[in-house]
Amino acid sequence: MQPGFEPHDNQAEIARLQAVYQLQREAYGREPYPDAVLRRDRLGWLRHMLTKHGDEIAAAISADFGHRSAHETRTLEIFPSLAGIDHMLGKLRKWMKPQRRGVSIWFMPASNMVIPQPLGVVGVIVPWNYPLFLAVGPLTAALAAGNRAVVKMSEFTPRFGETFRRLIAEYFDEDEVCVINGGVEVAQAFAGMPWDHLLFTGSTSVGKQVMRAASDNLTPVTLELGGKSPTVVAPDYAIATAAERILHGKCLNAGQTCVAPDYVFVKRGQEAAFVEAARAVVQRWYPNLPANPDYTAVVNGRHLARLQSYLDDAAEKGAQIITLADNDPASGKLAPTLVLNVNDGMRVMQDEIFGPILPVLTYERLDEAIDYINAHPRPLALYYFDYDAHRIKRMLGQTISGGVGLNETVMHVGQDDLPFGGVGPSGMGHYHGREGFETFSKMKPVFAQSRINGVWLLRPPYGKRVEQLLKLMLR
Ligand code: NAD
Repeated sequence: MQPGFEPHDNQAEIARLQAVYQLQREAYGREPYPDAVLRRDRLGWLRHMLTKHGDEIAAAISADFGHRSAHETRTLEIFPSLAGIDHMLGKLRKWMKPQRRGVSIWFMPASNMVIPQPLGVVGVIVPWNYPLFLAVGPLTAALAAGNRAVVKMSEFTPRFGETFRRLIAEYFDEDEVCVINGGVEVAQAFAGMPWDHLLFTGSTSVGKQVMRAASDNLTPVTLELGGKSPTVVAPDYAIATAAERILHGKCLNAGQTCVAPDYVFVKRGQEAAFVEAARAVVQRWYPNLPANPDYTAVVNGRHLARLQSYLDDAAEKGAQIITLADNDPASGKLAPTLVLNVNDGMRVMQDEIFGPILPVLTYERLDEAIDYINAHPRPLALYYFDYDAHRIKRMLGQTISGGVGLNETVMHVGQDDLPFGGVGPSGMGHYHGREGFETFSKMKPVFAQSRINGVWLLRPPYGKRVEQLLKLMLR
């Protein structure tokens, strides 16, 4: 908990959660299928809330972080939230329409369709690193699909949690959307509620607990988790360009990004050039880094100590630590730091880093990098810097990850027409765009028999007629 902030009364918040869940369930019973006008209306209010209260939102998040660049809150949280809403507003009517599906010759002239239907009351659990976007993104999909939603904010962003609760209460009735705050105890109670769908964003370890809790109710889950996202630079790629794009993805939100490049592979012999190019961009972007408003702080002392312990551990085990700008412990910030000569015995190569530390590994043959990636848990993102179509095809075909960025980092998350989600330990299920709408809908298949049809031919008693038909069917 940040100093100077009153912790929530967890028991009171759990009671509120249960009451609001009941309210939403009753409201769902009264109105199980909101029409497109109402859904668009709700998305419109969400949009309006974001455009009107952007500064307040940025200030609250910054207070929780110690310092969060207001530009980053606008570009990485408010902008993608608005773009996601606009995409939904544009596509919603089309996606709500029943889809005609084919019927095999044996069932003609019956017809098939798939009807998207709201699931009902859904839960969303939000982490601290992008507390607005990771609340509004799932909420956009849930509302577009016609659901009611309860959103649980992280205990690490209590000021923003309160701001968001107040704003949502201003723009929505409690039986439409409601925000719950509080600590882990509240989060555990939240995960155990019988939601019609639960979308969790957070760490892989907590994701396992959430799935366990949800299994008691057989609540379907979407798990948006983390992991170590690898980056590989092809042998002949312009190293300065790669360094600039990789460091950009690493420095946004001070590396506290689920899809931040976690470590980078360069061709052996190019480490020094990479280090120099990385140093040059960091010096150019963040002069006087500790006081520079464009560089974000580490969210709290616990995480700062965790990151420092990775560096101490790596240094103790023989790694070379290269700090790319000045550090001032009083600032709550950690300057971007490269780590060379790493191995898997170091914690920096075991845990998801989730901060501005970038281990630099080398390969002699590209296959070594591919083999390393495949020998580790399936990552949320993979970044590959190359323009050679043959090698790109090989990288895409021989590795598996939640998503891929070619010649760029992080930006794939902002593509409204691409699904977003991990694979295996980095998550399950998708949202954003159409996949988000479908995640929060029951895509209900409906088979409609015609007045005149041939199914009677298959009814008992099973004699010659059925035998002859089966001969045709089983050919
Ligand atoms: P976290 O897992 O510690 O917490 C996430 C949320 O879960 C918080 O709201 C917390 O209150 C709640 N929680 C904690 N214990 C719980 C429990 N036992 N049962 C139910 N809920 C519980 O994660 P964090 O530190 O807030 O966020 C960082 C992690 O999230 C990183 O691993 C990062 O990669 C991941 N992440 C993933 C994405 C994505 O979209 N895939 C996005 C952002 C962050």
